[in-house]
Amino acid sequence: MNMYYPFVNTPLPYPYNALEPFIDEKTMHLHHDRHLQTYIDNLNRLLEENPALQKFSLEELLLLWRRLPCHLQAPLRNNAGGVYNHRFYFDGMREPDSPSSSPRLFEAMAHRFGSPEKFMAQFKEAALSVFGSGYAWLVLDRGILKIITSANQNTPLLPSGALILTVDVWEHAYYLKHYNLRAAYIDDWFRVVNWDKAEERFTGIISR
Ligand code: MN
Repeated sequence: MNMYYPFVNTPLPYPYNALEPFIDEKTMHLHHDRHLQTYIDNLNRLLEENPALQKFSLEELLLLWRRLPCHLQAPLRNNAGGVYNHRFYFDGMREPDSPSSSPRLFEAMAHRFGSPEKFMAQFKEAALSVFGSGYAWLVLDRGILKIITSANQNTPLLPSGALILTVDVWEHAYYLKHYNLRAAYIDDWFRVVNWDKAEERFTGIISR
């Protein structure tokens, strides 16, 4: 995901209706074409007004916002994070019940959480615990799998680890179909998790 200004809204890696019936087509249209597009437009506008920042990649922008003047910190963190987090979330899903596996990640999950099912229960609990808008993440931090949450569009880029999986729990991710039932959305999200992608991210980190 090493992308540079001007950022463009790359297409989803699957059709808008690919995640039906678990995540509906209309939600995917709104989420990708309007919500993500708005973050992209706002980020491009911010960089247009601050040309010194145009040479940095999306990931670099997410790491350097702390060192910027106050008036740039929140808009950069929110909009660069909004682009990065949404792409990471969209790329982590695929058609329901398509064959995919993550043998090494599942083995690590069993070691850390007891079993993949116990991981899912803990991950769901974490996703439900996010107050307001944010994300739950599975990360590898210093070789240890951890479940963490982030508020708003904050991206938990770790100096000592990396991101494996995320679920967007902003209401716009599920409200049209699941109304206020975040738990039902999370159960449905598990049906469309791209475990191949999670495995690829996991093995990419451990082989570094
Ligand atoms: Mn979202």
